[in-house]
Amino acid sequence: MTDPVAAVRKVFGPGRRLERELAGCELRPQQQAMAEAVAAAFTNKGRLAVEAGTGVGKSLAYLVPAAAWADRERGRVAISTYTRILQDQLVSRDTKLLTRLLPGVPRIEVAYGQENYLCRLRLHTRVTHGLFDSREQARAADALLEWSAATETGILLDAPVNLPPKLGRRVGRDSAACPRQRCPYFGECCWYKARRSWDAAAILVVNHALFFAGSGENGILPEFAAVVFDEAHRLEDAAVRHFGVQLNQGWLIGILDGLSPVSGRGLLQSLRGTGPVETLASETVACRAELAAFFDRLVTETPGPAPSRRGPTRSRRRPAEDRGPWNARRRLNGPVTPTPAVGLERLGTALSETSADLADEELAAELGGAGRWLREAAAGLRRFEEPGEENSVRWLETGPAGTTLNLTPLSVAEPLAGEVYPRLGTVVLTSATLAVADSFSFTAGRLGLQGFRFLRLDSPFDHRANSLLYVPGRMPLPSEPDYVAEAARLVGDIVAASRGRALVLFTSYEMMRRVHGLCDTGGHTALLQGEMPLPRLIEEFRTDVHSVLFATQSFWQGVDVPGQSLSCLIICRLPFEVPDDPR
Ligand code: SF4
Repeated sequence: MTDPVAAVRKVFGPGRRLERELAGCELRPQQQAMAEAVAAAFTNKGRLAVEAGTGVGKSLAYLVPAAAWADRERGRVAISTYTRILQDQLVSRDTKLLTRLLPGVPRIEVAYGQENYLCRLRLHTRVTHGLFDSREQARAADALLEWSAATETGILLDAPVNLPPKLGRRVGRDSAACPRQRCPYFGECCWYKARRSWDAAAILVVNHALFFAGSGENGILPEFAAVVFDEAHRLEDAAVRHFGVQLNQGWLIGILDGLSPVSGRGLLQSLRGTGPVETLASETVACRAELAAFFDRLVTETPGPAPSRRGPTRSRRRPAEDRGPWNARRRLNGPVTPTPAVGLERLGTALSETSADLADEELAAELGGAGRWLREAAAGLRRFEEPGEENSVRWLETGPAGTTLNLTPLSVAEPLAGEVYPRLGTVVLTSATLAVADSFSFTAGRLGLQGFRFLRLDSPFDHRANSLLYVPGRMPLPSEPDYVAEAARLVGDIVAASRGRALVLFTSYEMMRRVHGLCDTGGHTALLQGEMPLPRLIEEFRTDVHSVLFATQSFWQGVDVPGQSLSCLIICRLPFEVPDDPR
């Protein structure tokens, strides 16, 4: 293949391959300018940040030079996105077009975090020992078992089963519970098969969280020579999570429930009659009580907004039925002592020791995994006990998933500039929103973008001439009782006018379900997020042109639905972060 600059010249511009390949495609000078800048960055091992407005066609503008460079230089490129939706779009759609534009495109693979891959050992352990909290879990596990015989990839989100969340966490791959070569399913393991395909890829599509956690020395990802961060406006969020500590009460309780649930059957019940199981069970109960008391004490003793019984803040403007992303946050002034670290550490060690003596390898792996997580949680809690950490803020967040203890770095510019970028030859950041008040200086400061070239490209769309903005003049506040009925009526009127073809976005699942339940879409198919796996939902929305999709969370960004299917976007409430978010 030719070099990146020549490849860009062949693809973009009047009469070139892109125009010939896509009949009726409008040339976008901004896309060509971006592709040329990215090609120059690859050629010169440079650093580039590009703000490219909606419709520029960013993906192709970086994929063409990245593919040409990877093929010619035999270097591996990471394309990192924030959302899984964009990851999937890149692999399923954009790379197909790329292959038509550049014959001989090198191998492109997608990588998700380990918990997204089915662990056959964990699934069999659950089914064999009946380790379920409910009948719903048992039914879903049976369906998974059937699917597991046929799946090539083992990617859980692609399974034709609506997985109860707790079960998903317990059958996904868990490094702490994986005996690797000693596992009886090692030869057919979905995770290790995926890892082999990543090693063979020239371009690997990852997400920011996985990129930070998995790259570098001892990381699970292969080595990269270059990276393109798409959706770079969320890079700081992902970096803050990676360099900070988060300990969620629900996650910890979930581990203890897996051992000995309040109802249903846990690991320890399966081991009855073996060694010190009774002691472990009573220590698990004690740990759960200690954790609950610890988090309760933190919430009641730390000044801040009062959490409601349903989790987040009591606020007239934030009704119980629409908590959405707004949780109660409190700053912790100084170290937190005492914590339940000692109890968790003791139980974790006892579990690991017991697992080493177990003859049943399946149960031993699960028990050892739980032990390791508890010891890691104890180590995390100790970070909150220590003084220092001047460059971080300790804080609590109370929401529907329980309370989360956070240790958040005030800035990630230093580790990004000092540890992450220097590992790579070429670094490209792109997003539709990187500049603030026409300047990159804020973003450059937050993300440590020293030595970067900056480029701004406007949207090629004439929004003023081609779009219509409607803001209803009289709507009840979301806190008022008639808001849901009025929102449903209004959405019904709008989709009647747009003949379906609409995406309706919410900031909470509950509000989404209630409006969907009341809304008359006039015979147009009403699709609801959560009713089917995400990739299928998007495909249905694309192919059923007049359908209406009610969605939240993952649909706020990264979704690209070309053509008529997405002609109307209805935003029921803007998803602003609250000013007390320390991130
Ligand atoms: S090798 Fe590890 S991840 Fe794979 S099936 Fe076995 S335990 Fe699960």
